[in-house]
Amino acid sequence: MYTVAQLVGGVWGAGGDGGELVVCDPADGTPVSTVPVATADEVGKAAQAARNAAAQWAATAPAERAAALHRAADAVAAATEELAEAVTAEMGKPLADARGGVEAGIGTLRQYAELAPLRGGRTLNGGVDALDFLTPQPRGVVAAITPWNDPVAVSCGLLGAALVTGNVVLYKPSERAPATGWLLARALDQALPAGVLSLLTGGPEVGAALAAQDVDVVAHVGSTATGRAIAAAAARTGAKVLLENGGSDPLIVDAGVDPEWAAGQAALGAFANAGQICVAVERIYVHREVAGDFVAALTRHAEALRVGPGRDPGTELGPLVDRRHRDHVHGQVTAAVAAGARVRAGGEVPDGPGAFYPATVVTDCRHDMPLVREETFGPVAPVVVVDSFDEALRCAADSPYGLAATVLTTSMSHAQRAWRELPVGTVKVNAVFGGAPGGAAHPRRASGQGFGYGPELLDEFTATKAVHIEAPGGGEW
Ligand code: NAD
Repeated sequence: MYTVAQLVGGVWGAGGDGGELVVCDPADGTPVSTVPVATADEVGKAAQAARNAAAQWAATAPAERAAALHRAADAVAAATEELAEAVTAEMGKPLADARGGVEAGIGTLRQYAELAPLRGGRTLNGGVDALDFLTPQPRGVVAAITPWNDPVAVSCGLLGAALVTGNVVLYKPSERAPATGWLLARALDQALPAGVLSLLTGGPEVGAALAAQDVDVVAHVGSTATGRAIAAAAARTGAKVLLENGGSDPLIVDAGVDPEWAAGQAALGAFANAGQICVAVERIYVHREVAGDFVAALTRHAEALRVGPGRDPGTELGPLVDRRHRDHVHGQVTAAVAAGARVRAGGEVPDGPGAFYPATVVTDCRHDMPLVREETFGPVAPVVVVDSFDEALRCAADSPYGLAATVLTTSMSHAQRAWRELPVGTVKVNAVFGGAPGGAAHPRRASGQGFGYGPELLDEFTATKAVHIEAPGGGEW
């Protein structure tokens, strides 16, 4: 059982007068973590303490901050196993995947430690003694509000980029993975001056209190509804908002592709992490020519997945994060069936403890069904059969979201049309996952705003200052 503590103003164990939250293992419902809940007053005091610590950290040499981030990455690496176990216990992901998420987070911390000190701006000479230059400066206080679905990788990105560019950070991990956030903050804090990183825990109300503070940036990774509430709160304070939110990513399966290979890609995209990935495949548009073989192979993939608790070696499909989320996923599936869709695999809530849901293939779907149009965030592959690549592209583009999309095709001209025409932040051709480490992403519309990853995130956390210098009286120095 994890006993989580907050970190406020450099002091561990501060506050928590808002009560206590208990997180249960989604595999069997047993309690895993007890968590203090911050009051709005504590959040305000934490923001003030962070503000007081900001100037000194901002004045620290970039190389020194980078060295601290390297030491922080070492501390996270030393805690890899402990972190991976906490992820699995709190949100259910198979242990090997959880370990992969921690390793990805460490890689991101190290990349930011290397890249940040190299950043600079343009210089111009307006005259022999007149110099203009652009220099990036820390923005000040950053509130980082994160989700549960890949808690270490996502948090390391935001925290690493914000800290190494000289900002102090108020970190609010998800209420579904707070012990993971606490272990991560403990590791990072070892390498940082006191007060540079704070940890506040609790539910949505703590996030809302944080987003309402006088901070300089609110960075949120999570659902679209939350992102919009945060944007509204930040509009009142003037904070910059970075939002990496939900998606309903399409997968286009073109005529002429090998249906067995395409089904393997679809299964990976729809069922990995039980579909709880922002860029999971959420809807499939398959050309009629390959649809029969594709669906048969996808159904085989779904039925072959080994379902079990994430801590069991060999588990490929862990539980969903909790039963409330399972109700949401199953509700979308049953509504689609009531509207004429057919379940080919899964689709039934199993008996027994936990929040398990089987890998589910649903065919005879129409583009207008909520299962297709809304974010499901579960191990469900809804299949819509189309008669042309044009139709697939049109349906794929028709969404309020704009996160990512994948096209499987042997046609170079179709690949070119896909990346040019799809109104999303990321287009993947012939692979559902596997972008290079350090790759950036810039979501559109309901999926968010601002770079959430890559070296570009360092730019988001700095403000560029333009400086013009000339000699006094227009003469010489
Ligand atoms: P969520 O938005 O419900 O919660 C995320 C964080 O926001 C939590 O810490 C939560 O306490 C906080 N929060 C909730 N309500 C708030 C409010 N009104 N004001 C301020 N903070 C508030 O999201 P979730 O359920 O934890 O995560 C799943 C969602 O995250 C999915 O929609 C998924 O697509 C998205 N996601 C997106 C990306 C991306 O990069 N685009 C990555 C991972 C997850």
